[in-house]
Amino acid sequence: MALPIVACLDLEGVLVPEIWINVATKTGIEDLKRTTRDEPDYDVLMRYRLEILDRHKLTLGDIQDVIATLTPLDGAAAFLDWLRTEAQVIILSDTFAEFAKPLMAQLGYPCLFCHSLEIDDAGRISNYRLRIADGKRKAVQALKQLNFSVAAAGDSYNDTSMLIEAHTGILFRPPDNVIQDFPQFPVTRTYDELQAAFREHFARA
Ligand SMILES: [Mg+2]
Repeated sequence: MALPIVACLDLEGVLVPEIWINVATKTGIEDLKRTTRDEPDYDVLMRYRLEILDRHKLTLGDIQDVIATLTPLDGAAAFLDWLRTEAQVIILSDTFAEFAKPLMAQLGYPCLFCHSLEIDDAGRISNYRLRIADGKRKAVQALKQLNFSVAAAGDSYNDTSMLIEAHTGILFRPPDNVIQDFPQFPVTRTYDELQAAFREHFARA
């Protein structure tokens, strides 16, 4: 008997633009453009970002106002709507629920598993909380234990353990170094191609 399918999607780079890069651009704070490519230690990077927000006296509300001006990538909402007719969909992201919220509203509030922020009474982001390490891979692993067939799509290094764990892993608009390091995954660049790759999994599952 065919197993029911769960489709797992990365958020930034697959459905919405990179949030920190856009916050940096829209606030004009160049220092916020630093990413995991410049600072591979995520804890160091996040402390650096929070310190910059503090220095500029930016609250969560200020950042959410900036994020609310962003829109999902062209075609993302239609793709997600289609995918939700074919499978249960869970978005597995390393972003924070409070940042994602304005974008989730534009996508019809799909199921999202991510991290969260600690906010003090003045609205300042005082800390961040990673729900669990390697959460994307662990979510896929748990879904497999629940007897689902899992297809996953992502664009970057932080998705590759999820793609390896899934029955089908798909890259969407990945940078060249990810393609070189993970040649086993099909590369898709448009939502039509991504849809076709998911359809292949549905046909097999
Ligand atoms: Mg991404």
